[in-house]
Amino acid sequence: MSKLNTNYQKLQAGYLFPEIGRRVKAYANSNPDKQIIRLGIGDTVRELAPSVISAIHKEAETLANQKTYTGYGDSEGTLELRQSIQDYYKQLGVEIELSELFVSDGAKSDCANIQNLFEKPVVALQDPAYPVYVDSNVIAGNTYEAVESGQYNGLIYLKSSLDSDFLPELPTQKVDLIYLCFPNNPTGAVATREYLQTWVNYALENQAVIIYDAAYSWFIKDQDIPKSIYEIPGSKECAIEIQSFSKFAGFTGVRLGWTVVPFDLKTSDSKEKQLNQMWTRRQNTFFNGASNLAQAAGVAALSEQGRKENQMVIDFYMENAKLFKDCIQGLGLKVLGGHNAPYVWLETPIIEGKKLTSWEFFDYLLNQIQVVSTPGSGFGPGGEGWIRLSSFGLRENVLEGISRLNSLKESIS
Ligand SMILES: *Cc1c(COP(=O)(O)O)cnc(C)c1O
Repeated sequence: MSKLNTNYQKLQAGYLFPEIGRRVKAYANSNPDKQIIRLGIGDTVRELAPSVISAIHKEAETLANQKTYTGYGDSEGTLELRQSIQDYYKQLGVEIELSELFVSDGAKSDCANIQNLFEKPVVALQDPAYPVYVDSNVIAGNTYEAVESGQYNGLIYLKSSLDSDFLPELPTQKVDLIYLCFPNNPTGAVATREYLQTWVNYALENQAVIIYDAAYSWFIKDQDIPKSIYEIPGSKECAIEIQSFSKFAGFTGVRLGWTVVPFDLKTSDSKEKQLNQMWTRRQNTFFNGASNLAQAAGVAALSEQGRKENQMVIDFYMENAKLFKDCIQGLGLKVLGGHNAPYVWLETPIIEGKKLTSWEFFDYLLNQIQVVSTPGSGFGPGGEGWIRLSSFGLRENVLEGISRLNSLKESIS
């Protein structure tokens, strides 16, 4: 008799983006004459870089000829791409072996699946956080039921707030797995070397493992902010890094990422290189490798020319972020992020003596100026009272959004 995986029933209804979609659709249906501007979406909008496009064309030609056609490749990724990734780390002063690298079809699936290496871990994560860290652990049975606040029993939420620049404090109890994301989605917070070292020290002392989501490292401008956790001494013994081509090269639709599982990574009971071998086994069993077209594109994206072209697009997005920040500061609202990260994180205003919740401000912006944002509380209770704006937009949209936001100056404080 088959039975359901009842962990699915623990999941909280109304995943963030469907709920946003529902409210926007309802508004559009009853206000068909109004033009809606989306400033909340975490998806890239600019075209792929020329060198990436030509690599995809070239790979397509290779596949078009029976003599040069290739089918399945190594599930860990092509040698050429792994060498390009290895070079990326070399430029950061980090030595990574090719067998420590696992090319993926994007960061999200690895963020969700990586917990599979650990036995019933006690999981800690930032609050607010990218929803996949929570939901994947709920489905895997690493939590109990959710309580009224929306938090799951058994998960350790690392509270962060304006007072700590949205950098979470170390847990007060022992945890086994810690998800960290810097530069952060949604808050735009970045981790300094000293701050990350405190996490690595904690993990080493407690034999915990850090899952480090570095998808936004490409947006870091300040020279002294680390782009990889492996820039921190001791991290190879306690950290897995997950990376993505989505945000820096516009691969949200192409699909490509990678994960580093170092040989030195340890749990309290692991043998030498065992976690690396387990992830190799896992990938060979569950995954047949990323698309060869995407991998050829990835090599081009990491080439010197590709990096130059992608940097121009990143600079374009970061100019959007600056425009948002200036506007919001002008409105007198607290704003974080948008400097080393594409997300701008702003506090909800007080209107008629009442501080709005995230969803109230979302509705206010939609109804008053037809602007779509992302409510901070959708990333966890710790995001309540904040909303996220995204700099992934075309300039005309951003400017139109800004002029509408400026029109609120008299009404919000
Ligand atoms: C967008 C994003 C990713 C990238 O996911 P892909 O599956 O590579 O597209 C990973 N982590 C965070 C926090 C993100 O916002």
